[in-house]
Amino acid sequence: MRLFGTNGIRGKIGREFTPEFLAKVGLAIGSYLKKESVVVLGMDTRISGDMVKSAVVSGLLASGINVWDIGIAPTPAIQFYTKNHGDFGIAITASHNPPEFNGVKAIAGDGTELPREEEEKIEEIFFSGKFRIVTWKEVGEYRRIEGAREEYLDAIISRVDAEKIRKRGFTVVVDCANGAASFTTPYLLEKLGCRVISLNCHPDGTFPGHPSEPKEENLGDLVALVKDSGADLGIAHDGDADRAIFVDERGRFIHGDKSLALVAREVVKEHGGGTVVTPVSTSLAVEEVVKTAGGNVVYTKVGAPIVARKMIELDAIFGGEENGGLIFPDMQFCRDGGMAVAKMLEILAKTDKRMSELIDELPSYYQRKLSVKCPEEKKERVLSLLKKKLSGERMNTLDGVKIMDDGWWILIRPSGTEPIYRIYAEAKEEETLKEKVDEYRRILEEIIKEA
Ligand code: MG
Repeated sequence: MRLFGTNGIRGKIGREFTPEFLAKVGLAIGSYLKKESVVVLGMDTRISGDMVKSAVVSGLLASGINVWDIGIAPTPAIQFYTKNHGDFGIAITASHNPPEFNGVKAIAGDGTELPREEEEKIEEIFFSGKFRIVTWKEVGEYRRIEGAREEYLDAIISRVDAEKIRKRGFTVVVDCANGAASFTTPYLLEKLGCRVISLNCHPDGTFPGHPSEPKEENLGDLVALVKDSGADLGIAHDGDADRAIFVDERGRFIHGDKSLALVAREVVKEHGGGTVVTPVSTSLAVEEVVKTAGGNVVYTKVGAPIVARKMIELDAIFGGEENGGLIFPDMQFCRDGGMAVAKMLEILAKTDKRMSELIDELPSYYQRKLSVKCPEEKKERVLSLLKKKLSGERMNTLDGVKIMDDGWWILIRPSGTEPIYRIYAEAKEEETLKEKVDEYRRILEEIIKEA
């Protein structure tokens, strides 16, 4: 049985997430850690945040753990504070999920997301019920910490050319989706000398502005406001602000792999080469610009923690995902929305170009993403049949099946969270894209039927 999903422990309030369940989660994590360890804890702006936190904290204290509560903060700020001050971290967040959900995300002492092997140890304790319950004298101490967010912002600012950014005096529209970034990004921008126009930057766990996934269909107001205000760019975060998505000064929504490619190119140029790590689902545009700038790309399975671990292993200079999750190793080995914002401003300031010009310089590909229903129990069999059927082609089986050829690729992989197969495809020509998507979708559908 599993407790942790691909993004920590997630559940609906009142359904999976009851006080009993959450206190047990706290007890299991506490029992897994050494007595008197310091757990840094923070949360996003969800209405259930205090309820979830209190129950988890109760379990932690009862197992002899000290809890340092930094309050509402972006997940990367919690990770950063954990790395610098704690033995372990917990983020109470469900990132971009709807408001009725919440989550418990476990953070290792070095600030990275907890590796699967360690999660399994916590799960074993949880399911066995063998908790360490300490005596009254040994119950942990709960402390409220002030200033963690400021520490995070100062660390970001010290890692970019703040003077150069301030000189440009950017006008920026920022949409925090009423989430955790409401407490950080507007202030970060202010400290970087920007004129800040804020949208959905009041914390509200009902997410009145729009759903907290920074997708194009959710960012209509941001796009309109960038255009109307004549801003230099727009910025949007997801609910826990580990991701950042951009809108250029013409009001165009910039897809995450474009901003990834842009930052990757600049970081490789700064370093005069180096390794960039990204999942197999990322646009070829990234590899193209990285190679041109003198660097190389290493691909991994889909998932930010996997990218981060590979980066540590290879001493990579940069990494990230196509959803706006960028990882800057000199800050920390996890996705960091605040750092992504500061770096983007630095790139704009250094190149002295407009955002649209920088984006239009990047290679362009046509893309499609779609999903095909597949019952959970068939998933594995479908994958092996798919590998067999396509074995004659140029294939990468790191994560699902990726077929590559000149000017196009297609990736077919089972979803980790839903009963579907996802298809990602990219091509230089629109015609090729359509042709390949139709061809491989048919193959997949037939195999699912037969399996
Ligand atoms: Mg997130």
